[in-house]
Amino acid sequence: MKSNKNNDIEDTNEVVSPSHFIQNIIKDDLETGKFEGRVHTRFPPEPNGYLHIGHAKSICLNFGISIEFNGLCNLRMDDTNPSKEDTAFVESIKNDVEWLGFDWGDRLFFTSDYFDRLYQFAVQLIKLGKAYVDDLNPEEIREYRGTLTEPGKESPFRNRAVEENLDLFERMKKGEFEEGAKSLRAKIDMHSGNLNMRDPVIYRILKANHHRTGRTWSIYPMYDFAHCLSDSMENVTHSICTLEFEDHRPLYDWILNELGVYRPQQIEFARLNIDYTVLSKRKLLQLVQGNHVSGWDDPRMPTISGLRRRGYTPESIRDFCERIGVAKSAGTVEMPLLEHCIREDLNKRSARVMAVLRPLKVVIENYPEEKTEELEAENNPEDPSMGKRKIPFCREIFVERDDFMEDPPKKFFRLTPGKEVRLKHAYIIKCERAIKDPQTGEVVELRCSYDPETKSGTGVSRKVKGTLHWVSAKHCEKAEVRLYENLFSISNPGDEKKNPEIKEVLNPDSVEVLGDCRIELSMATNRIHNHYQFLRLGYFCFDSSISTSDCLVFNRTVTLRDSWAKIVKKGA
Ligand code: ATP
Ligand code: MG
Repeated sequence: MKSNKNNDIEDTNEVVSPSHFIQNIIKDDLETGKFEGRVHTRFPPEPNGYLHIGHAKSICLNFGISIEFNGLCNLRMDDTNPSKEDTAFVESIKNDVEWLGFDWGDRLFFTSDYFDRLYQFAVQLIKLGKAYVDDLNPEEIREYRGTLTEPGKESPFRNRAVEENLDLFERMKKGEFEEGAKSLRAKIDMHSGNLNMRDPVIYRILKANHHRTGRTWSIYPMYDFAHCLSDSMENVTHSICTLEFEDHRPLYDWILNELGVYRPQQIEFARLNIDYTVLSKRKLLQLVQGNHVSGWDDPRMPTISGLRRRGYTPESIRDFCERIGVAKSAGTVEMPLLEHCIREDLNKRSARVMAVLRPLKVVIENYPEEKTEELEAENNPEDPSMGKRKIPFCREIFVERDDFMEDPPKKFFRLTPGKEVRLKHAYIIKCERAIKDPQTGEVVELRCSYDPETKSGTGVSRKVKGTLHWVSAKHCEKAEVRLYENLFSISNPGDEKKNPEIKEVLNPDSVEVLGDCRIELSMATNRIHNHYQFLRLGYFCFDSSISTSDCLVFNRTVTLRDSWAKIVKKGA
């Protein structure tokens, strides 16, 4: 883990949770001396999209284990599918893993770097009589494979002589055949109860440009062939992957055993699902390509880059991954848990400020026209070391439009004619009257008076029920603020049977852009913090990727209300 870049990482692991099944397996292996006491994991993303929070779970697990057991963790780009991959994705993956706080040292690998050796392994399998070149096309191969209830049929090309297979495989490599015309298959068992063992394709012809090897290769290894051998060549001890690979494990073991090479242990765990979002690069790509979001890093996206722009911190994501745990059976995590984690973190670190999202002007009639007072406000009551700041107060201020009602219901402890409220860090004011637009009747300004005896922090305390945030009209800056809701309107948008078209289940109100907000000058002039709590409104972060010198943009990371904390409390 990078030592100091993201504050004290050790601090976030104060709560010692009981160890999960993978930790237990590794402890046992260390005890029995399996793998000579080594622990070596890897995180193997395919660079065909940006990483999402599901990947973060895998990253925290793999890198976390290597740290816990004094081992190593490789970062490996699993780039065997040239048509979908790109160097831009490689860079974003490196950036995201690093941002999460993990360090692969000098162990950044690419499966494409192994293409020569993988080819040699395939040749060796052919020589062992364990692989053959098949002329069936992909569709025929599928037909011959059989089903879960019916055994497969052997290809008529299955018993080709070794020499012929070697010759054809070499000619596949030279590009002599068209895509789909031939493939190399492992010769295992067409009657196996496990479909993955029915002579799986291990090499296919692809005439595509690879982002690293260009046009050098006309054939590319399949995931199942490349992955186990890459693990083996990298001396990985524990190859941790998601549950859908459980049925591939016999093949993983078969390939390594037949070739007589070192065999790591594959261990499967349940992938992360979160409600109201999708964790699949393919579907996230659809959102990007369909312009349903502004890009991979749209703050509504469950990508690591989206969460970062939204204001999530690496600490909060690691905390989340710790809390969800690691299990063998699949489940869905509720979004409020993720929100709970970021709230806990931002509560500690974010500077408290005042901002008004929908401004309504207030004139304090008995406050001198030319006077400006400097009031004192703490930056974070949770952390006195964050100090205090001065906020200017004068005759004209802005308050939140919905903090005034002319004819309010009971229990509306905000501004209404004849009633008093406290202005945070300032005075008690009384609403005298509302000024309306003569044409529309809309309230355009409030006239108030203040009580000079009620300055905050002076010990004089007259109780009023409501406390409002505000900004000084003369000492504020305009800003744009974006508020977010779930990207999807239903809890399981990833369910392909129910929602084949992802764009049909998008939440039309997932973002609200407020273009005429007012923020405290301290934020505009002295942006030392990235994360803020706007009093009463939530946690926000400055969005440097779209802000300009004329228009500062802030994203709401999360609201203040924490339904998860309440659930936890109730349950306790
Ligand atoms: P996607 O379906 O989003 O494309 P993937 O599994 O195809 O995901 P990879 O790039 O192959 O994406 O994933 C790299 C690693 O991250 C794999 O080991 C994979 O098992 C793990 N991973 C992917 N999604 C999740 C998830 N939702 N929860 C936990 N681990 C995941
Ligand atoms: Mg994949």
